[in-house]
Amino acid sequence: MSASRRPALLATDPELASFVAAEESLQAETLRLIPSENYVSAAVLEASGTVLQNKYSEGYPGRRYYEGQQNIDRVEALAVERAKGLFGVDHANVQPYSGSPANLAVYLAFAKPGDTVMGMALPMGGHLTHGWGVSATGSWFRGVQYGVSADTGLIDYDAVRALALAERPKIIFCGGTALPRTIDFAAFASIAKEAGAVLVADVAHIAGLIAGGAHPSPVGHVDVVSTTTHKTLRGPRGAMLMCREEHAKAIDKAVFPGLQGGPHNQTTAGIAVALHEAAQPSFTAYAHAVVANAKALAAALLERGFDLVSGGTDNHLILMDLTSRGVPGKIAAKALDRAGIVVNYNTVPFDPRKPFDPSGIRIGTPSLTSRGLGVEHMPVVAEWISRAVDAAATSDEQALSGIRAEVADLMSAHPAPGLPLA
Ligand SMILES: *Cc1c(COP(=O)(O)O)cnc(C)c1O
Repeated sequence: MSASRRPALLATDPELASFVAAEESLQAETLRLIPSENYVSAAVLEASGTVLQNKYSEGYPGRRYYEGQQNIDRVEALAVERAKGLFGVDHANVQPYSGSPANLAVYLAFAKPGDTVMGMALPMGGHLTHGWGVSATGSWFRGVQYGVSADTGLIDYDAVRALALAERPKIIFCGGTALPRTIDFAAFASIAKEAGAVLVADVAHIAGLIAGGAHPSPVGHVDVVSTTTHKTLRGPRGAMLMCREEHAKAIDKAVFPGLQGGPHNQTTAGIAVALHEAAQPSFTAYAHAVVANAKALAAALLERGFDLVSGGTDNHLILMDLTSRGVPGKIAAKALDRAGIVVNYNTVPFDPRKPFDPSGIRIGTPSLTSRGLGVEHMPVVAEWISRAVDAAATSDEQALSGIRAEVADLMSAHPAPGLPLA
């Protein structure tokens, strides 16, 4: 692949152009299993790289602080309408720069510094911004944290209720970054109601599954839905906050002027395109295929003797505990990377090891599904993972290069959306 797709960039800055071209090759040749990543379409890429970037648009459509918004207003209004239609919500704000600022806006809307907030602990599968200590959300607010039960790896809703009633948090977050199982939004809603808390579903990971009907929707159960747009939803890097009409003003005020200045209009355009794509029948098929692939991959890994947190998956994500294979997560992740299989090392619940050197790896099927791999490919993927983990244990570099060649061979037969053909 060459940088000639971008002649102006190549002429102006050949060094940078070469980095981008190299990244295209890497994304084309490798099996990308990081569950929060994906491949956006060429249409999303084009929309995200436009002159909309040149425009300042503080405010909202029809109520801006700068003139010349004739076209920008239409772009943002279209993104908002599509979000409302796709997720069935009264109100959508498409301006948050990313998932973390979106969540910060939720705090700004519903809590004061020092208030108690509740979310899932990071090492149990929650996100930093759900009140974890090293995050601003855990130092400016008093974060109390729930987890999963040690024997099942599942959320213990009775324990969540007991904690909520004891602590009376202002906000409860449900959702996370390493949860392989379906979230019971109705159960969280009854807990939040009893505790008098605002309930936020952070569906950053599963928004695409929800849009495609492959995971239950939190809409109707929760006060606010927070999501990134770039994970299973397959849009540009950004975020959205969605809610009932009663919270619309508070959410909008918190995003702007509470937390942000001008929205990234080129990203808003990319989000609008992604939402349009997500409303097509082909996206429903993709969302169901993501889950079918994850279930097939989990089954194939279990057959090869791997331990999976909670014993499997209901969604796009699998959390593997490598303790019984005798290989720490980081060493396995780095070996897999050399084998052309890209994952991240991850804590498992009750991990005896440290977060920067944990026991597990986290994998997922959104990217491979976007390239058209199906359940028939999952046994070979599991076999590669198994061979690479064994090779990591014996530092067998030759085995890793062998797997890398096999991976590249399969991937070359499944071109990725948005990437040039080899
Ligand atoms: C990814 C993620 C976020 C944060 O998104 P960024 O865009 O990385 O800031 C927030 N919450 C959850 C549950 C996530 O998975």
